[in-house]
Amino acid sequence: MRCSRGDKMDWQQCIRLEKAFLWENEKHIPYADAYPQLALNAEDVDEAAMRLKRFAPLIMKLFPETEAQGGLIESPLREIAATKNALHREWLADLNMAEQDFPDEKLYLKCDSHLAVAGSVKARGGIYEVLKHTEELAMKAGFLAKTDNYAVLAEHKDYFSQYTMQVGSTGNLGMSIGIMSAALGYKAVVHMSADAKQWKKDLLRSKGVIVKEYKSDYSKAVEEGRKLSDMDPKSYFVDDEHSEDLFLGYAVAAERLQKQLAQESVVVDAKHPLYVYIPCGVGGAPGGITFGLKNIWKDNVKCYFVEPTQAPCMLVGLASGKKNEVCVQDYGLTGQTKADGLAVGRASKLVADMMEYVVDGIITVCDEDLNRYLRMLYTNDEIIIEPSSCASFAGYKEIVLRKCVEQSNADISSVDKNGTHILWATGGSFMPREEVEAILGEVVK
Ligand SMILES: *Cc1c(COP(=O)(O)O)cnc(C)c1O
Repeated sequence: MRCSRGDKMDWQQCIRLEKAFLWENEKHIPYADAYPQLALNAEDVDEAAMRLKRFAPLIMKLFPETEAQGGLIESPLREIAATKNALHREWLADLNMAEQDFPDEKLYLKCDSHLAVAGSVKARGGIYEVLKHTEELAMKAGFLAKTDNYAVLAEHKDYFSQYTMQVGSTGNLGMSIGIMSAALGYKAVVHMSADAKQWKKDLLRSKGVIVKEYKSDYSKAVEEGRKLSDMDPKSYFVDDEHSEDLFLGYAVAAERLQKQLAQESVVVDAKHPLYVYIPCGVGGAPGGITFGLKNIWKDNVKCYFVEPTQAPCMLVGLASGKKNEVCVQDYGLTGQTKADGLAVGRASKLVADMMEYVVDGIITVCDEDLNRYLRMLYTNDEIIIEPSSCASFAGYKEIVLRKCVEQSNADISSVDKNGTHILWATGGSFMPREEVEAILGEVVK
């Protein structure tokens, strides 16, 4: 079955009827006007980037696979021309258009699916928050100064073992917090929602992390985790719904991407816009990345979040203006989706506040499309990512289709054709082979 699109309907109709569609943020204003009203600023992101640099020697020591990058956890940016052509061929049929009329811009995949340590975008925000807390504890205890080589922290596992790190998660955040916390010596407890995949729980348990399972959704797992952690003075709770640290850890991605685009000789300016599509759960990852990108490129970068048709929490929060005071169940949706990383019914207030005037739009995707995109990427460019990550493809589709419509209505020269598009692949490299093969229906090389 193919996903049907909700053209010419309002957002509430599209949501109720589970249509894939593009919601343009009508509150979007020039970034220079939005920026002064935001709770965080560009210096906060710079500070996070510097903190990650201080930790690089320790990361290199604990995770030797990061040596080639000097202890920075960063992912490749890969052009996926073959996949782009396959996508365009599919959509041409939908639009009844000739191939040469299609906007032919570069398409890249930002492979956070392959980030070291956690295998997902959560290696940015989650790990950053654990490190920041670790720095605070170590400085308070008196065995760390900013000018030290942070590799010394690997010798204090006993000290950290008296402390607990806890988090509520649909899976990937738990993996990033759990793996990093366990490596530093902490006791780690991950509160997993019902959507979390079995293999993620198994992997964590194999690293000595305590996994608590809940029958209900993500919000409940977070609530329970927060409550249990608050009762223990030696426990720290990573709060995905409110954490500025997580948000800033994600935002550091932007300066790294800027270097990669420069290496690719990609220009970003008013005549050459950059389009970025990021899968959205509670909002921290796409919100933080968008904040970082807008600080660099302002209105020349267009940022779109993508959410499942059954769990568009940021869309209902922003479109209704009620932010975290509404959830997807209020609109008759289940909140359930094959995109386990995006199975969130209520958006983060912090992120909704930060993105209210900043995000360009939100796109929804039907579950049926996710595995199809997964297969297309594998067949054409031999890259494997998890279903949640594939939501980004639907973002690209909606913007390409919008361009085609504009082009057919307008004088062609007025439609920009010099842009660059980036699909943010948010997770996947830790997926077990059997899981991948079950989705693809074939044996993986
Ligand atoms: C967590 C996650 C996201 C979205 O991040 P949020 O901070 O929850 O919005 C997207 N994709 C994958 C694979 C994830 O694990």
